[in-house]
Amino acid sequence: MKKIIDYLNSNRNNIIEFTKDLIGISTVNPPGKNYDKLVRLVERECKAAGLRTKRYAVPTSYLREKGITEGAERINLIADWNTNSKKTLHITCHYDVVPATGNWKTPPFRPVVNKGRIYGRGAEDMKGNIASVIFAIKALKVNNLAPRVNVQLSFCPDEETGGATGFGWLVKKGLIKADYAISEGYSGEWVACGNKGVAWFDIEVFGKSAHASSPYRGINSFEKMVKVASALFDLKKRIEKKKTKFVTRNKLDKAATLVMGGELKGGLKVNTVPDLSVFSIDRRLLPEETMGEAIKEIKNVISDLKKKDKDLRVNVKLRSGNNAVTSGTDNALFQAFKRAAIKVKNKRVKEAILSGATDLRFLIVKGVPCLGYSAKGGEKWHSDNEYVIVKSLIETSQILSHTILYLS
Ligand SMILES: [Zn+2]
Repeated sequence: MKKIIDYLNSNRNNIIEFTKDLIGISTVNPPGKNYDKLVRLVERECKAAGLRTKRYAVPTSYLREKGITEGAERINLIADWNTNSKKTLHITCHYDVVPATGNWKTPPFRPVVNKGRIYGRGAEDMKGNIASVIFAIKALKVNNLAPRVNVQLSFCPDEETGGATGFGWLVKKGLIKADYAISEGYSGEWVACGNKGVAWFDIEVFGKSAHASSPYRGINSFEKMVKVASALFDLKKRIEKKKTKFVTRNKLDKAATLVMGGELKGGLKVNTVPDLSVFSIDRRLLPEETMGEAIKEIKNVISDLKKKDKDLRVNVKLRSGNNAVTSGTDNALFQAFKRAAIKVKNKRVKEAILSGATDLRFLIVKGVPCLGYSAKGGEKWHSDNEYVIVKSLIETSQILSHTILYLS
């Protein structure tokens, strides 16, 4: 619809300014900073767009249960546009960002616009998208275009630390209305319809301490760990041969993966035989695999080793784990979105699963059709010099407006 396209094109500067304001509030997580300030800004903009807003703070007792003892109050904001329709489209955004290193060319929390890009921490993941979403609503409201679905937005903390104390908590509390849902995902010609699973382990290898001058009195946990890691390296090669039947944007993502040693601990002094060595495992699961299988694969490797080494003591500790989730794509949401993408970009979009998880998984497991789409940047989320392309922010906003309008 020309009115939508024109409104968003003519609001280019407002979209840029709002994105810059969002980036300027450093909502770094961990530990979770300036959440209140950020929510105030988003709430003001939602109200200006004509939405009804409500804040939901996560109780301290629940935060403690989830191991959060520092940082700002965890505030979730919900904004509603009730059109008295039967169905509701939910769009969720997280407003926390990961920390920034000192290696940026521009200050990460003082956004800079250069050659059609906005640079700053969170530009791509996902503060630019917050601007796209709110302006998509404004474009409809300003032009008196009423959708045939209710629209509910949520703005949540803590996605970068797993989401249980942000969007996950809202879902758990029954505060989310969603017959369909949209959040971050692929960009350009790809749209996400789910994600791989992820399991994090700590492999604790025990030994017996002794003075290094008489090592025969001890058991070297480091040497034992090398043995364990080497056996798991063989498992890794087997795991990487497993391929999903689902489409992935990058063909290499079709494989299951196992990464060892992202975290490594143990060994305190040069002249001792170490008695504890620990390394982490990050395991990405295909939709065809289960958590139970992934745990068993690792445990089997260890128990085979134990049969040959009576001194080997290893504990496989599961830190967290989620199965892969996939959303159906043969439904009104994906149809409306694809029609919108053709309208705005004159391009067909293709569905694929993501290798990393998003907050949408909390709804996908409940059977809600969920779609992940983001404004394009340089795929530098979580790294230095993150940016988002202004043209894509506007296009994404136009696509969202049309999707909302086409959906029923
Ligand atoms: Zn994100």
